[in-house]
Amino acid sequence: MLREVRPDIPVLFLDTFHHFAETLVYRDELTARWGLNLISLQTQTPSVGLWQAESTEACCKRHKVEPLFSALEGYDTWFTALRRDQSPSRANLQEIEPFKLPGRMISRVAPLAAWTARDVWKYAKDHDIPLLPLYELGYTSIGCEPCTAIPFDPENPRSGRWQGQKLECGIHIQAK
Ligand code: SF4
Repeated sequence: MLREVRPDIPVLFLDTFHHFAETLVYRDELTARWGLNLISLQTQTPSVGLWQAESTEACCKRHKVEPLFSALEGYDTWFTALRRDQSPSRANLQEIEPFKLPGRMISRVAPLAAWTARDVWKYAKDHDIPLLPLYELGYTSIGCEPCTAIPFDPENPRSGRWQGQKLECGIHIQAK
C-alpha cells in the first residue's frame, strides 16, 4: 500500500542476529522483487545468545529496541503493520497515535489496526504477495528463531513467543 504512494519509502529491517534463515531469504526476495529502499538496522555491539546468557529483556533491548529507536529518531512518522487482533497487548491500538522515543515524539501509524488475520491473508492472495514459508509450519507470529514457537494458545497468536513469558519485545512500548 505504501509503495503505491511512495515507492522509495525507507523500509527499516531490524537485523537482530537471531532471525530464522527463512526470514532473511524472504527479506532479500521481497527487496529484489519490489526494489525496496531497505535499510538494515543492527546494534553496534551484537551479542548472539544474550537471551540465554543474561535475559530476553537484555537481548531484545540490545538487538531490537536500541537500534530501532535510534533509527526512528530521524523520522517524523513510523508506519507499522500492528493489528489489534494480534495480542491482548495490542487490543487498544489506535490507527494514529503519538509515540515517545527516548529523544523525541513521533507519530506511529498502524493502517491495519482493525484488520483480522483473515483480512491479511486475503489481501496477500488478491495482490500476489508471497508469504513467509514458516507460516505453513504452523507459526502464527514470527520473530527471532530462539524465541519463536508454535502457539500453545490458539486464541492468542503470539503465545508462542518467548515461551509464553512475555508478549512484547519492547519496540512497541513507548519510552519512559
Ligand atoms: S526475540 Fe529473543 S533472540 Fe530476538 S532479540 Fe529478543 S531475546 Fe534476543
